[in-house]
Amino acid sequence: MDKVEVIIVGAGVIGLAIAAKLSQQFDSVLVIDKNASFGEETSSRNSEVIHAGIYYPQHSLKAKLCVQGKAMLYRYCQERHIPVNKIGKLLVAHGKEEEDFLKETLISAQKNGVNDLTWLSQQALKELEPELLASAALLSPSTGIIDSHAYMQSLLAQAEQHNAMFVAQTKMLSARPTTNGFEVLFDSQGEHLAINCKYLINCAGLHSESVAHTIEELKKSHIPKLHWCRGHYFSYQGKSPFKQLIYPTPRDNGLGIHASLDMGGQLKFGPDTQYIEQLSYDFPDKLKAKFLSQVSQYFPNIDANMLQPAYAGIRPKLQGRNDSFRDFVIQTCEVHQLKGLVNLFGIDSPGLTSSLAIADYVADKLKVV
Ligand SMILES: Cc1cc2nc3c(=O)[nH]c(=O)nc-3n(C[C@H](O)[C@H](O)[C@H](O)COP(=O)(O)OP(=O)(O)OC[C@H]3O[C@@H](n4cnc5c(N)ncnc54)[C@H](O)[C@@H]3O)c2cc1C
Repeated sequence: MDKVEVIIVGAGVIGLAIAAKLSQQFDSVLVIDKNASFGEETSSRNSEVIHAGIYYPQHSLKAKLCVQGKAMLYRYCQERHIPVNKIGKLLVAHGKEEEDFLKETLISAQKNGVNDLTWLSQQALKELEPELLASAALLSPSTGIIDSHAYMQSLLAQAEQHNAMFVAQTKMLSARPTTNGFEVLFDSQGEHLAINCKYLINCAGLHSESVAHTIEELKKSHIPKLHWCRGHYFSYQGKSPFKQLIYPTPRDNGLGIHASLDMGGQLKFGPDTQYIEQLSYDFPDKLKAKFLSQVSQYFPNIDANMLQPAYAGIRPKLQGRNDSFRDFVIQTCEVHQLKGLVNLFGIDSPGLTSSLAIADYVADKLKVV
């Protein structure tokens, strides 16, 4: 194989969703990943929550693609028998200031087309979630949880059904524009090989910035700086005290240390936010005290002995420590003038929720570039 129509760099949920979509449009699609299998980085280290699309600024890509992606994802899961549960989420407030924030959130959610939020009083909350401490909450009934591994498996199977090929343990080293696309150089288990393609899609997640720097003729001014922001999770042993997902008001560049359940009913708390310079999934010992202090604000009966370090994930953020909101960046030749190249930068949360809508967005862009 020395020539294909599309090369997708990165087999996380975004690369796989794009592969599933483009394989219906193009005869030869190649997805490569440097790891031993698909989805071994951010896509398997997240909360597995299908977000409603509540917080993002109106008209942003995050708002639009999250709301579209949520509806597409529930439909997809139903059609393909992927474990999913529209479990609902409570966004909780403590006191007047946070209640005012919830009122603003209600309005911004409506602007994004999320019209199903309801206000719950303290009394109503006590009946719904007796272990929860809050003065009021917004209930988001369209928030859910998904088995993200089963979802990625299904996307890959769908792509392969349409003759796409997935090759693991293959790292993109560089790319050079040709008259009709790119010549892309790979290291596949120590062997160097070059493959030509018409379209090159960079969805390398945490590495999308460094991958972009290896593309000849791509101006450095088009490559944004990525900030790595690690989030840790603690699992909570025993039966979950909550039936729904519990989110405090957002803080510190994240959604706050929330309580979420996985499809097996396991309760976990997290993620927090910690900007890091080196890629590492280390789990600092001192975190337990921070988690206990934040979670006990909404779950006062938390038992410290039941809290066990679980895992960490790293967000590829465009937003630095003190920056305001940054949107997804999906960059085509309209921006960088390199025909056939699509770069995806800063696909942090709600990337999992938005994945099918992002794939449609990329496919539409390829029709016009
Ligand atoms: C802590 C945390 C919680 C989150 N919670 C949620 C949530 O609840 N809901 C939600 O919607 N979103 C959530 N997200 C966001 C979501 O997980 C991401 O948006 C999504 O997984 C990004 O997928 P991706 O395919 O872009 O990246 P990745 O999954 O990181 O995939 C990129 C792939 O590119 C490969 N790669 C990189 N460089 C190369 C190279 N040179 N050659 C070959 N392959 C390469 C990597 O090996 C990797 O497999 C969360 C993220 C984090 C970190």
